[in-house]
Amino acid sequence: MQSKTPLIGCHVSIREGYYQAAVAAARLGAKSFQYFPKNPRGLSVKAFDRRDAERCAAFCREQGMPSIAHTPYPTNLAVDASASREQFERTVASLVNDLQIADACGSVGAVVHFGIYKGQDPLQGYKNIIQCLNTVLYAWEGAALLLIENQSGDHAKMGMALEELVQIRNLTSFPEKIGFCFDTCHAFASGIWTGTNTDELLRKGQELHYWEYLRAVHLNDSKYPAGSHRDRHENIGKGHIGAAALKSLLAAKPFGDLPAVLETPVPASGSHREEIEYASAMAEGMKR
Ligand SMILES: [Zn+2]
Repeated sequence: MQSKTPLIGCHVSIREGYYQAAVAAARLGAKSFQYFPKNPRGLSVKAFDRRDAERCAAFCREQGMPSIAHTPYPTNLAVDASASREQFERTVASLVNDLQIADACGSVGAVVHFGIYKGQDPLQGYKNIIQCLNTVLYAWEGAALLLIENQSGDHAKMGMALEELVQIRNLTSFPEKIGFCFDTCHAFASGIWTGTNTDELLRKGQELHYWEYLRAVHLNDSKYPAGSHRDRHENIGKGHIGAAALKSLLAAKPFGDLPAVLETPVPASGSHREEIEYASAMAEGMKR
């Protein structure tokens, strides 16, 4: 039995600022948290309150509570620079801004989905992702990482396999500025993890050196079965993955000590407090 357990937390709102978001997370019993650095529905560049962000960072340091930022929904690393220059530049500027905010808040990094490409030539999609990552990271000198998240395959059949994630990181000019965020629901929906092949998944990640760069986890159950390619998060233990499979994954060495953030629907009780408690107990091997 390992001594380190994942730091269970949840996604929180920044409605009252970054510092208040961290305080709200701590009040819920979270040991980590995730937030949107700005409006999640657009690719704006936010002139953020640096003092508030630094207060958040200081609080998290005191509490020993790591955090991650999540880039806005429209962020697409596979945006085509030659076909839509303006959209490419907007995406790059937004990502740099996300990293700046994450850094000021003392976060581990900013989570970004692998990318969606719907053009004729899938290779072009991968090239676009590399070009976008290189452009963002060329000028980025902060400590916050870009954390690439595995996809479920609901919009495009890419960014699902550990091989792809590892290759994209390796093919950029700045692999040291990139880490991974593993979403349990996406892994399940994509079919790379069925809940019964956990050892195989762990072995593969080790062979590929994927776990070495794992920095965060999105801890979600799934509303749909394995391999369904449907990205619908369910509360822990209430979906098709189930508590036992999630527990066996969380108990594995690569997950120890990492922020593991719930992105599940807010339960009827109105907060994630009980679910955090439940998942924390599960992670510590004391599932009730
Ligand atoms: Zn996620």
